[in-house]
Amino acid sequence: MSISSSSDTRARTMNPTTLSYIPSEELFAEDVFTDRVMRQRLPKDVFKALQRTLTKGERLNPQLADVVAAAMKDWAIERGATHYTHWFQPLTGQTAEKHDAFITPDGHGGALTEFTGSALVQGEPDASSFPSGGIRATFEARGYTAWDCTSPVFLSRNAGSVTLCIPTAFVSWTGEALDHKTPLLRSMDAVSEQAVRLLKIFSADQGVSRVMATCGCEQEYFLVDRDYFYDRPDMIACERTLFGARPPKHQQLEDHYFGSIPTRVMAFMAEVERDLYRLGVPVKTRHNEVAPCQFELAPTFETANVASDHQMLVMETMRRVAPRHNFACLLHEKPFAGINGSGKHVNWSIATDTGINLLDPRDDTHSNMIFLCTLAAVIRAVDLHADLLRASVAHASNDHRLGANEAPPAIMSIFLGDMLTDIVNQLESGGAKRTMKGTSLELGTTTLPQIPRHTGDRNRTSPFAFTGNKFEFRAVGSSQAVAWPTTVLNTIVADSLSFLCDQLEKAIGKNTGDEAKVQGAVRGVLQKIIKQHKRVIFNGDGYDKSWHDEAKKRGLPNHRESVAALSTLSDKKNADLFSAFKVLSKVELESREHVFLEKYCKQVLIEGETAMLMARTLILPAAIRFQTEQAENISVTEAADVDTSKSREALESFSALVDSLRDAVDALEKAVDHHDAGVHKHAAHVRDKVRGAMSDLREVVDQLEERIPADLWPMPTYREMLTIK
Ligand code: ADP
Ligand code: MG
Repeated sequence: MSISSSSDTRARTMNPTTLSYIPSEELFAEDVFTDRVMRQRLPKDVFKALQRTLTKGERLNPQLADVVAAAMKDWAIERGATHYTHWFQPLTGQTAEKHDAFITPDGHGGALTEFTGSALVQGEPDASSFPSGGIRATFEARGYTAWDCTSPVFLSRNAGSVTLCIPTAFVSWTGEALDHKTPLLRSMDAVSEQAVRLLKIFSADQGVSRVMATCGCEQEYFLVDRDYFYDRPDMIACERTLFGARPPKHQQLEDHYFGSIPTRVMAFMAEVERDLYRLGVPVKTRHNEVAPCQFELAPTFETANVASDHQMLVMETMRRVAPRHNFACLLHEKPFAGINGSGKHVNWSIATDTGINLLDPRDDTHSNMIFLCTLAAVIRAVDLHADLLRASVAHASNDHRLGANEAPPAIMSIFLGDMLTDIVNQLESGGAKRTMKGTSLELGTTTLPQIPRHTGDRNRTSPFAFTGNKFEFRAVGSSQAVAWPTTVLNTIVADSLSFLCDQLEKAIGKNTGDEAKVQGAVRGVLQKIIKQHKRVIFNGDGYDKSWHDEAKKRGLPNHRESVAALSTLSDKKNADLFSAFKVLSKVELESREHVFLEKYCKQVLIEGETAMLMARTLILPAAIRFQTEQAENISVTEAADVDTSKSREALESFSALVDSLRDAVDALEKAVDHHDAGVHKHAAHVRDKVRGAMSDLREVVDQLEERIPADLWPMPTYREMLTIK
């Protein structure tokens, strides 16, 4: 058990690892079966067929699979691989893998290596132990994994073992999606189809076969010393502190954000980047975040599916590298109370396969019809389906963050900034005629350059902000798989694009070549959409209390916590939407609501039980020791004939606190030990009773921490954990 006085020694003995420098261009994607490798290793016709699948979304001819598999195997074995695995994303929110060796007995006492096309294309893991939300009973345990050739195959290196990883979708034997990837891919098809339809209306579809959803995910995380991590049962079981009094110094000096990166952290970051470069993850940005010991990593954006797979690799790599630097990497949304939590900003846009970003406003924004239509579609989508967006980021740990002080509120609104707000206002009154231009900033000295001033300031408080040429969905939690919120985003925008196209096609009729008619139709349709949905636009301070009242007046939903948010998931409106765009059937959607609520219960109950265990086996014993010390002190002091009235008072008040501790643990035990039929009821109980009892217990424990002697306190404190870097 760590004693607080050891912390300084520990800080002094830290020994940061140094990395040998390897130029990143050479390293980049070294462990990826890239296009370049395929071109070198595959027969021309096979390569071309595979490319058609990749770029045009055509189905892959199964006969080619054997050839591709053989080339992959040779490439992997040359790099030390011994095993392969289908790598998939079940609804646990983690990745899953089951390794098979390439080696197979040859029937003559020896062995050969083998990897067939069918082993590449399809796998059959037992699905019975993955969450399915009742999609199939355990006796129908069969599940299939299917190769997603739009996300590159890569090598995973762990403890000297190299495994060929094949990104796959995971479905039940009846074809229902049991994972996050399948609906993501379906939603990308949906948004592509509708966006191409929009381009057609403006005759801008030449050479475009697909419109891709693009994603760039900024990952916030905490690093704490690993010894501290192991000294706290709550960290081990829940990845967050369930107790902890506020330290004298936390983030009030605002000296950590963008500060110089501590040496040991730098070594960690460099190693994470090196490993991610190998995997072809284009990591770009690194910096200190707001809270002490909080940091951020962001890659360059990619197509949504690849970005989502890469995001899983980012989280896994960070977790794996941290111990090498004696850190634990915490991806939890709120590891420490009272300081900032961690989010994952998902930057999202749609772009043609010829490279045109439909959300790029360009210079004369007011006349950029495709941009204006796409923007209007997003505005309508967020307004109509705010409940879905909210539900897509709802889980137990994000509840500590969303709606709390330093995080975006749970009300889904859109920040547009001055320039776009001006244009939207013009659209509302019947057509946009001008684009606000930025000015330049005079810095008051000739040695500094004049810099252009943007037409709007940045807004950090909006859950969904337009940031130049993309939307930034900021409510996503740091521990989340981004596939699900991205699926929702793609689907709701596909729906609005489809609505817009219906309206435009009707208004334009046969006048497709007549530019004036087309523009008139756009004006009419956009005016209607803006009028109807502009209530979702909010450029002010989302942290301000008055916004909550204002949002209520506007009729915007505000689900402050996950159970309410998740319970809207399979509403008829949402089930209809997902089935209309063939992203999720009603059953698949309902199963998700079930799985997420069940996970909520489990997560909070694990926390509840951990809190009880710590209170009974760590905190209460420490408190009793101190109580005894105080009592003994009083009796010896009295024997020496010295007045003990103050000591008695102190002991009495301390003993009252110890009694409160006992009561609070008992109350929590009662709340945890409750069984409700039905996941909705159980989740509501967990929210209303267990969470409340946990915070009552925390209040008592944190008071005790401030009174029990440091040498008796049985675990590392916030002061230590947040200071040592
Ligand atoms: P900030 O912290 O100011 O929001 P960052 O540079 O940390 O900005 O992150 C911005 C993210 O947005 C990066 O991952 C970047 O690649 C991504 N991004 C930029 N353009 C697009 C786009 N068109 N589609 C999706 N993501 C994008
Ligand atoms: Mg950022």
